[in-house]
This record gives sequence, structure tokens and C-alpha cells, in this order.
Amino acid sequence: MSKNKAYDVIIIGAGPAGLGAALYCGRSLLSTLVLEKMGAGGQLALAYDVDNYPGFEDGIAGPDLSEKMKDHAARFGAEFKIENVSDVLQNGKAKKVVTKSASYSSPVLMIASGASHRKLGVPGEERLAGAGVSYCATCDGAFFRDRKLVIVGGGDAAMTEALFLTRFASHVELIHRREGFRARPMNVENAREHKKIDFTLDSVVEEIMGEQKVEAVRVKDVNTGEEREIDCDGIFVSIGHDPNTGYLGNMLPSYVGRTVPVDMNMETDVKGVYAIGDVRMGSYRQVATAVSDGVTAAMHAEKTLS
Ligand SMILES: Cc1cc2nc3c(=O)[nH]c(=O)nc-3n(C[C@H](O)[C@H](O)[C@H](O)COP(=O)(O)OP(=O)(O)OC[C@H]3O[C@@H](n4cnc5c(N)ncnc54)[C@H](O)[C@@H]3O)c2cc1C
Repeated sequence: MSKNKAYDVIIIGAGPAGLGAALYCGRSLLSTLVLEKMGAGGQLALAYDVDNYPGFEDGIAGPDLSEKMKDHAARFGAEFKIENVSDVLQNGKAKKVVTKSASYSSPVLMIASGASHRKLGVPGEERLAGAGVSYCATCDGAFFRDRKLVIVGGGDAAMTEALFLTRFASHVELIHRREGFRARPMNVENAREHKKIDFTLDSVVEEIMGEQKVEAVRVKDVNTGEEREIDCDGIFVSIGHDPNTGYLGNMLPSYVGRTVPVDMNMETDVKGVYAIGDVRMGSYRQVATAVSDGVTAAMHAEKTLS
């Protein structure tokens, strides 16, 4: 393992949150290292068309916006390395960040490792992702004007997303594996009362069907085993997120597998450690909000360091 190289700021994750922070840290002349295990952009790089990021009135492909954000941060001196962070530790006042091949330290650490959408894991889901399969109603709902949609889930997110989708869709079928819901009764009631929403309960999606784009889903009644097809133009999967916090066991053990709470400056319980973007508690999980978190943390960190 190479020796412990020091920076002013280390950012874990090169999604929109990490890239927003890297731009502001770099431009404040802080030596900034971004550690990313895959490529730049995070979830943004998976978005076919981003229609709600300010400044791109005709929309922009997720991978293109990712590259622009990375190049922008690099222009102001942020250094990027493709490395998977496996551990973070407090080392006196410094934070030590460990990967397979090296370790790094800095007084400021930004956790920007995002979250992963839970998937159904059924045939057709991966193949038709971006062609009618979506995990974000706010991001993609507007692409489905006057279309028939399916939403899967029984939590508050599924209920509010179902209601949001009625603004665009001609009909929304909500599919949930049980009779009961995790969602608050008021949210369930609002969805139940909406004339565009119908419920298919005690049922699971077995397959997402379609050649080039989503055309139907095959659902199974969990009690009778009976199967049927529901025609639709899109399916929104709203069954939760898993924050990428598995490497935090030595620094913030209570947040492994959970979103990280922060104050208004995005700082965690540990001074100098920030959590930004989808990984933090209460995030709206949008590109713009992730960037905004990164900027807030960078500005606070810059003030603290100087
Ligand atoms: C298909 C899709 C379409 C979307 N469309 C839109 C849209 O149109 N508009 C919109 O506003 N939002 C959209 N979103 C949501 C948006 O992309 C996310 O809210 C945003 O990317 C969150 O940014 P982030 O930086 O917090 O996390 P992420 O984008 O999740 O980035 C986190 C990064 O951290 C890296 N990482 C994780 N663990 C480690 C580790 N241990 N070591 C090193 N690196 C690590 C990951 O590889 C990843 O690159 C979409 C999401 C998806 C999946």
C-alpha cells in the first residue's frame, strides 16, 4: 500500500454531490481528492435524458452532464482517482481514508457515495431500464403524458409518487405485494380516493414485457398464484433505496446501511465530516439537490479551514 498522502479535502463519490463539492473546493484553492469506484456521474450517468437540471432547456443526456461536471471540477484542480473506499477512520484531527491500494488523509471528509435504488429483479427490468422502467417519478413522470403507468410499492414514496404521476398519466395502477401498507394512512387514503389510481394488492410483478419499450407487466396474485398481464407504457419502481454507507463502520457505525443525518451545513456528528446528496438523511434525491448539498458543504468547509 502506498504511503498516506495528505489533502485539504477528500470526497468519496463522483456523483453530482461529489462533483459539485469538488468544483467549489477546487475553486477555493483547497487541495481536493475525489475517490470514485466506477466512473464519473454516479446515478446521473444512468439517466437517459435529464430534463430538470437548470440551464439545459432542451434536456441533456445523463452521461454528458456527468462529463461536463467532472471536467468543470478538474479545471479547478480537483484530482480524480478510480478507487473503492473500504474504510474511514479518525486519526487525531485528520480523517484517514483507506482503499485497496492506498490510504489518504485530510482534515475534511465528504461522504458523497449516494444510494442505490432497490430493484425488482425480474426479467425485462434491466433490458427496458430507460425505455419505460424508471425509479424516479419526479425525474421521468413528465415523459408519460396521457400514458398508462404502473407503480410498484406500498410506502409513502410509492403513494406520493402515484399521486404525482396522475398529473401526467391517463391511469396509474399501483401494485403492492400485501394488503397492508407501510405508508401513512392519510397518504394511502389520498391515493385510494384518486379517480385515476387503481390498486392491485397481494400481487407481485413477475416480468416486465415489451420489445423496444415497456408494453405490459405480468403480475401474480400471491394467494391464488393466478397470473395476468396489465398493459402499460411505463413502470415506476418505488420500493426503497439502499444508501452506500457500508464502509463507515469505524467512523459512523450507527449509519452503516442507513442515511446519514446532517445539520444545515451538511456536517455530520463528527466535526469535519460531511454527508451530501442521496446518502444524507432527508435528501430529495435529485441532481440539483445533490449539487446544492455539495456546494453548501464545500463553502462551510472552506470557511472552517481558513
Ligand atoms: C436512471 C436514473 C435516472 C435519473 N434521472 C434523474 C433526472 O432526470 N433528474 C434528477 O434530478 N435526478 C435524476 N436521478 C436521480 C439522480 O441521479 C440522483 O439523485 C443523483 O445522482 C444523486 O447524486 P449523488 O452524488 O448523491 O449520488 P450518486 O449519483 O449515487 O453518486 C455516488 C457515487 O459514489 C460512488 N461510490 C459509492 N460507494 C463508493 C465507495 N465505497 N468508494 C468510492 N466510490 C463510491 C458511486 O460509484 C457513485 O458514482 C436519476 C437516477 C437514476 C438512477
